[in-house]
Amino acid sequence: MKSPSYIGRFAPTPSGYLHFGSLVAALASYIDARAVGGQWLMRMEDLDPPREVAGAQLAILQTLERYGFEWDGEVVYQSLRHEAYAEVVNRWLSQGLAYACTCSRKQLEDFHGIYPGLCRNVGHDPEHAAVRIRVPELEYRFKDRVQGEFTQHLGRDVGDFVIRRRDGLYAYQLAVVIDDAWQGVTDIVRGADLLDSTPRQLYLQELLGLPQPRYLHVPLITQPDGNKLGKSYRSPPLSSDQAIPLLLRALRALGQPVSDELEYASLRELLDWGIRHWDAALIPRTHSLEEALLS
Ligand code: GLU
Ligand code: ZN
Repeated sequence: MKSPSYIGRFAPTPSGYLHFGSLVAALASYIDARAVGGQWLMRMEDLDPPREVAGAQLAILQTLERYGFEWDGEVVYQSLRHEAYAEVVNRWLSQGLAYACTCSRKQLEDFHGIYPGLCRNVGHDPEHAAVRIRVPELEYRFKDRVQGEFTQHLGRDVGDFVIRRRDGLYAYQLAVVIDDAWQGVTDIVRGADLLDSTPRQLYLQELLGLPQPRYLHVPLITQPDGNKLGKSYRSPPLSSDQAIPLLLRALRALGQPVSDELEYASLRELLDWGIRHWDAALIPRTHSLEEALLS
């Protein structure tokens, strides 16, 4: 029942361990793929060694295995893909689509994260500078399977954004687009914290002449105070002896009608139940940790 028309993926960043929010995203992407007989790939987004936590890569993969996830093929490591990113950045630099930016953080601090184009027409040497891509004064929109229509005006709300940092490291926005296409990904299921990165990624796909994947952004699990549940907050790494209760809780956070009897199921039975009964239309747009803990 393999459907080459669906290739999904999970793409963790090893700057921390998996927490409950990442489990919800991993589970949704895994089940959404398997429910249609699709493939599910694994990509380690290890683009930023200075921010990497020692041991996190292995811990993430081991945790996923202990939670019953099985991915297709070998893990792709972005740290081994620099040539592919360099080729694109250099091409865009030579075409004048991208340019070098030497602005300091201090120079940009009054612009609230929207780049004001200071270096756009200066012609700095890109060697020891950041590289930005020119964005058009246009809205980019897409229809998310859970979050609905999402629109962002790239010129007004984002500005020319960094694709290669001053220290030579490649930006997530660039690498994710190149690798999703290279791996043939058709369906991106991930956390809603990346909703407002998507229009930038649509624009890069357009520049590269790539097909647009389908998107499903699962609800962010927020803290009781409404803040994002993240690596900084008390979100302990997932413990391997809690797989069944935490997977049940994650399925409930995804709106799936799990019954209490599933507590006695095996890991495989639980995941298979999730795959057989999967209904993405039941996924709520937001979810709080309180709800997750109570359910
Ligand atoms: N590596 C990103 C993260 O862990 C996810 C990238 C993606 O799914 O597009 O937040
Ligand atoms: Zn600049």
